[in-house]
Amino acid sequence: MQNVIPALIAAVFGSIFGSFTTMLIWRLHYDEPGICKGRSKCTKCGKTLKVKHLIPIFSWLIQQGKCGFCGAKISPFYPLTEFTFALTFFLFTQKFYGTWYLIPVLISVFFILILFWYDAVFMEVDRRISFIAIAFALGWSFSREFPLSAFLIGGLIGYGFYAIQYFCSKGKWVGAGDSELGLLMGLLLGWKFLILGLFFSYLLALVFTVPFLITGKMNRKTKIPMGAFLMPVILLFLYNGYVFWERYLMIFGW
Ligand SMILES: [Zn+2]
Repeated sequence: MQNVIPALIAAVFGSIFGSFTTMLIWRLHYDEPGICKGRSKCTKCGKTLKVKHLIPIFSWLIQQGKCGFCGAKISPFYPLTEFTFALTFFLFTQKFYGTWYLIPVLISVFFILILFWYDAVFMEVDRRISFIAIAFALGWSFSREFPLSAFLIGGLIGYGFYAIQYFCSKGKWVGAGDSELGLLMGLLLGWKFLILGLFFSYLLALVFTVPFLITGKMNRKTKIPMGAFLMPVILLFLYNGYVFWERYLMIFGW
Protein backbone atom coordinates (compact mmCIF):
# COMPACT_ATOMS: atom_id res chain seq x y z
CA MET A 1 0.00 0.00 0.00
CA GLN A 2 1.51 3.25 -1.15
CA ASN A 3 0.87 6.76 0.17
CA VAL A 4 -1.09 5.54 3.19
CA ILE A 5 -0.01 8.39 5.49
CA PRO A 6 -1.00 11.26 3.15
CA ALA A 7 -4.19 9.34 2.30
CA LEU A 8 -5.10 9.02 5.99
CA ILE A 9 -4.49 12.74 6.52
CA ALA A 10 -6.71 13.46 3.50
CA ALA A 11 -9.37 11.15 4.98
CA VAL A 12 -9.41 13.20 8.20
CA PHE A 13 -9.87 16.40 6.19
CA GLY A 14 -12.46 14.59 4.06
CA SER A 15 -14.51 13.68 7.14
CA ILE A 16 -14.42 17.33 8.24
CA PHE A 17 -15.59 18.43 4.76
CA GLY A 18 -18.31 15.79 5.06
CA SER A 19 -19.41 17.27 8.37
CA PHE A 20 -19.44 20.74 6.79
CA THR A 21 -21.50 19.37 3.89
CA THR A 22 -24.29 18.04 6.12
CA MET A 23 -24.68 21.54 7.56
CA LEU A 24 -24.27 23.25 4.18
CA ILE A 25 -26.96 21.32 2.31
CA TRP A 26 -29.38 21.63 5.23
CA ARG A 27 -28.97 25.40 5.38
CA LEU A 28 -29.08 25.81 1.60
CA HIS A 29 -32.25 23.71 1.32
CA TYR A 30 -34.10 25.50 4.12
CA ASP A 31 -32.60 28.86 3.11
CA GLU A 32 -31.13 29.46 6.53
CA PRO A 33 -28.66 32.33 6.75
CA GLY A 34 -25.04 32.05 7.80
CA ILE A 35 -23.57 29.12 5.90
CA CYS A 36 -20.21 29.52 7.58
CA LYS A 37 -21.08 31.02 10.95
CA GLY A 38 -23.05 29.76 13.88
CA ARG A 39 -22.34 26.57 15.83
CA SER A 40 -24.27 23.39 15.20
CA LYS A 41 -27.24 22.80 17.47
CA CYS A 42 -29.35 19.79 18.30
CA THR A 43 -32.56 20.14 16.27
CA LYS A 44 -34.57 18.66 19.15
CA CYS A 45 -33.33 20.35 22.34
CA GLY A 46 -31.64 23.34 20.69
CA LYS A 47 -28.48 23.06 22.77
CA THR A 48 -25.25 24.14 21.10
CA LEU A 49 -23.10 21.06 20.46
CA LYS A 50 -19.68 20.87 22.06
CA VAL A 51 -16.47 20.00 20.26
CA LYS A 52 -16.64 16.41 21.53
CA HIS A 53 -20.07 16.03 19.86
CA LEU A 54 -18.75 17.24 16.52
CA ILE A 55 -15.98 14.74 15.79
CA PRO A 56 -16.89 13.29 12.39
CA ILE A 57 -18.14 9.68 12.39
CA PHE A 58 -16.82 8.89 15.90
CA SER A 59 -19.15 11.18 17.89
CA TRP A 60 -22.17 9.50 16.31
CA LEU A 61 -20.77 6.03 17.00
CA ILE A 62 -19.77 6.79 20.61
CA GLN A 63 -23.16 8.40 21.38
CA GLN A 64 -24.86 5.47 19.60
CA GLY A 65 -26.66 7.80 17.22
CA LYS A 66 -28.20 9.97 19.94
CA CYS A 67 -27.89 13.60 21.05
CA GLY A 68 -25.41 13.93 23.94
CA PHE A 69 -27.84 16.17 25.86
CA CYS A 70 -31.40 14.99 25.30
CA GLY A 71 -30.92 11.54 23.76
CA ALA A 72 -32.88 12.42 20.59
CA LYS A 73 -32.00 10.21 17.64
CA ILE A 74 -29.50 11.66 15.17
CA SER A 75 -29.97 10.57 11.56
CA PRO A 76 -27.35 8.15 10.16
CA PHE A 77 -27.21 10.63 7.27
CA TYR A 78 -24.56 12.54 9.25
CA PRO A 79 -21.97 9.77 9.80
CA LEU A 80 -22.70 8.29 6.35
CA THR A 81 -21.93 11.61 4.65
CA GLU A 82 -18.76 12.00 6.69
CA PHE A 83 -17.74 8.43 5.91
CA THR A 84 -18.23 8.75 2.13
CA PHE A 85 -16.06 11.89 2.16
CA ALA A 86 -13.36 10.22 4.27
CA LEU A 87 -13.31 7.09 2.10
CA THR A 88 -13.19 8.87 -1.27
CA PHE A 89 -10.56 11.36 -0.07
CA PHE A 90 -8.50 8.41 1.15
CA LEU A 91 -8.77 6.45 -2.11
CA PHE A 92 -8.18 9.40 -4.46
CA THR A 93 -5.20 10.67 -2.45
CA GLN A 94 -3.69 7.21 -2.31
CA LYS A 95 -3.98 6.90 -6.07
CA PHE A 96 -3.03 10.42 -7.21
CA TYR A 97 -0.61 11.55 -4.48
CA GLY A 98 2.50 13.12 -5.99
CA THR A 99 0.76 14.04 -9.27
CA TRP A 100 -0.55 17.46 -10.31
CA TYR A 101 -3.90 15.74 -10.81
CA LEU A 102 -4.52 15.35 -7.06
CA ILE A 103 -5.78 18.83 -6.16
CA PRO A 104 -8.26 19.33 -9.05
CA VAL A 105 -9.48 15.76 -8.59
CA LEU A 106 -10.11 16.29 -4.84
CA ILE A 107 -11.94 19.56 -5.53
CA SER A 108 -14.10 17.70 -8.07
CA VAL A 109 -14.75 14.91 -5.56
CA PHE A 110 -15.84 17.53 -3.01
CA PHE A 111 -18.44 19.05 -5.37
CA ILE A 112 -19.61 15.65 -6.61
CA LEU A 113 -20.27 14.39 -3.08
CA ILE A 114 -22.16 17.57 -2.10
CA LEU A 115 -24.36 17.22 -5.20
CA PHE A 116 -24.81 13.50 -4.53
CA TRP A 117 -26.00 13.96 -0.95
CA TYR A 118 -28.17 16.94 -1.82
CA ASP A 119 -29.96 14.98 -4.53
CA ALA A 120 -30.15 11.77 -2.47
CA VAL A 121 -31.70 13.58 0.53
CA PHE A 122 -33.82 16.33 -1.06
CA MET A 123 -34.38 14.91 -4.58
CA GLU A 124 -33.22 18.10 -6.22
CA VAL A 125 -30.13 19.73 -7.66
CA ASP A 126 -29.00 22.91 -5.96
CA ARG A 127 -28.01 25.33 -8.72
CA ARG A 128 -25.76 27.40 -6.48
CA ILE A 129 -23.54 24.33 -6.03
CA SER A 130 -23.84 22.93 -9.56
CA PHE A 131 -22.90 26.27 -11.17
CA ILE A 132 -19.77 26.64 -9.03
CA ALA A 133 -18.84 23.03 -9.84
CA ILE A 134 -19.41 23.65 -13.58
CA ALA A 135 -17.25 26.79 -13.49
CA PHE A 136 -14.49 24.83 -11.79
CA ALA A 137 -14.73 21.88 -14.24
CA LEU A 138 -14.64 24.29 -17.19
CA GLY A 139 -11.51 25.98 -15.83
CA TRP A 140 -9.81 22.66 -15.22
CA SER A 141 -10.61 21.37 -18.72
CA PHE A 142 -8.16 23.95 -20.15
CA SER A 143 -5.19 22.16 -18.62
CA ARG A 144 -5.94 18.46 -18.88
CA GLU A 145 -4.40 15.47 -20.60
CA PHE A 146 -7.00 15.40 -23.38
CA PRO A 147 -7.72 18.17 -25.88
CA LEU A 148 -10.06 20.88 -24.58
CA SER A 149 -12.58 19.96 -27.27
CA ALA A 150 -13.10 16.50 -25.72
CA PHE A 151 -14.43 18.10 -22.53
CA LEU A 152 -16.42 20.88 -24.23
CA ILE A 153 -18.13 18.39 -26.55
CA GLY A 154 -18.73 16.15 -23.53
CA GLY A 155 -20.37 19.04 -21.70
CA LEU A 156 -22.61 19.86 -24.67
CA ILE A 157 -23.71 16.23 -25.13
CA GLY A 158 -24.34 15.83 -21.40
CA TYR A 159 -26.36 19.05 -21.24
CA GLY A 160 -28.29 18.29 -24.42
CA PHE A 161 -29.11 14.74 -23.37
CA TYR A 162 -31.06 15.94 -20.34
CA ALA A 163 -32.31 19.24 -21.78
CA ILE A 164 -34.02 17.38 -24.65
CA GLN A 165 -35.67 14.94 -22.25
CA TYR A 166 -36.75 17.81 -20.05
CA PHE A 167 -38.40 19.74 -22.87
CA CYS A 168 -39.97 16.67 -24.53
CA SER A 169 -41.54 15.48 -21.28
CA LYS A 170 -42.27 18.98 -19.91
CA GLY A 171 -40.19 18.11 -16.86
CA LYS A 172 -41.83 14.74 -16.12
CA TRP A 173 -38.90 12.44 -16.96
CA VAL A 174 -36.02 14.42 -15.60
CA GLY A 175 -35.65 17.43 -13.32
CA ALA A 176 -34.58 20.88 -14.46
CA GLY A 177 -31.24 20.59 -12.70
CA ASP A 178 -30.31 17.29 -14.33
CA SER A 179 -29.07 18.99 -17.52
CA GLU A 180 -26.55 20.87 -15.39
CA LEU A 181 -25.38 17.60 -13.92
CA GLY A 182 -25.00 16.23 -17.47
CA LEU A 183 -22.97 19.32 -18.37
CA LEU A 184 -20.77 18.85 -15.30
CA MET A 185 -20.28 15.16 -16.07
CA GLY A 186 -19.23 15.90 -19.66
CA LEU A 187 -16.83 18.65 -18.60
CA LEU A 188 -15.20 16.39 -16.02
CA LEU A 189 -15.04 13.16 -18.04
CA GLY A 190 -14.86 14.17 -21.71
CA TRP A 191 -17.34 12.90 -24.30
CA LYS A 192 -16.16 9.28 -24.50
CA PHE A 193 -16.38 8.60 -20.78
CA LEU A 194 -19.56 10.67 -20.61
CA ILE A 195 -21.40 8.37 -23.02
CA LEU A 196 -20.16 5.28 -21.24
CA GLY A 197 -20.87 6.93 -17.86
CA LEU A 198 -24.48 7.79 -18.77
CA PHE A 199 -24.99 4.16 -19.75
CA PHE A 200 -23.50 3.02 -16.43
CA SER A 201 -25.67 5.47 -14.46
CA TYR A 202 -28.85 4.10 -15.99
CA LEU A 203 -27.73 0.53 -15.29
CA LEU A 204 -27.06 1.51 -11.69
CA ALA A 205 -30.45 3.25 -11.41
CA LEU A 206 -32.11 0.16 -12.90
CA VAL A 207 -30.41 -2.25 -10.50
CA PHE A 208 -31.41 -0.02 -7.61
CA THR A 209 -35.05 0.57 -8.59
CA VAL A 210 -36.10 -2.87 -9.92
CA PRO A 211 -36.50 -4.43 -6.44
CA PHE A 212 -38.73 -1.49 -5.41
CA LEU A 213 -40.76 -1.75 -8.61
CA ILE A 214 -41.31 -5.50 -8.15
CA THR A 215 -42.39 -5.13 -4.54
CA GLY A 216 -44.68 -2.24 -5.46
CA LYS A 217 -42.86 0.28 -3.25
CA MET A 218 -42.26 2.38 -6.35
CA ASN A 219 -44.23 2.86 -9.55
CA ARG A 220 -43.32 4.29 -12.94
CA LYS A 221 -44.23 7.77 -11.78
CA THR A 222 -41.96 7.70 -8.72
CA LYS A 223 -39.28 10.34 -9.08
CA ILE A 224 -35.73 9.05 -9.12
CA PRO A 225 -32.90 11.38 -8.09
CA MET A 226 -30.73 10.90 -11.17
CA GLY A 227 -27.87 12.85 -9.61
CA ALA A 228 -27.56 10.19 -6.93
CA PHE A 229 -26.66 7.74 -9.71
CA LEU A 230 -24.65 10.09 -11.96
CA MET A 231 -22.34 11.28 -9.19
CA PRO A 232 -20.95 7.87 -8.09
CA VAL A 233 -20.32 7.03 -11.75
CA ILE A 234 -18.35 10.28 -12.20
CA LEU A 235 -16.26 9.25 -9.20
CA LEU A 236 -15.62 5.79 -10.68
CA PHE A 237 -14.52 7.25 -13.99
CA LEU A 238 -12.33 9.95 -12.46
CA TYR A 239 -10.70 7.21 -10.44
CA ASN A 240 -10.27 4.62 -13.15
CA GLY A 241 -11.93 5.67 -16.40
CA TYR A 242 -9.47 4.02 -18.71
CA VAL A 243 -10.08 0.57 -17.28
CA PHE A 244 -13.82 0.89 -17.88
CA TRP A 245 -13.28 2.19 -21.39
CA GLU A 246 -10.96 -0.67 -22.35
CA ARG A 247 -13.22 -3.35 -20.89
CA TYR A 248 -16.24 -1.84 -22.58
CA LEU A 249 -14.48 -1.87 -25.92
CA MET A 250 -13.38 -5.45 -25.34
CA ILE A 251 -16.98 -6.57 -24.85
CA PHE A 252 -17.70 -5.37 -28.36
CA GLY A 253 -14.49 -6.88 -29.73
CA TRP A 254 -12.94 -3.55 -30.76
ZN1 LIG B 1 -30.60 17.26 21.91
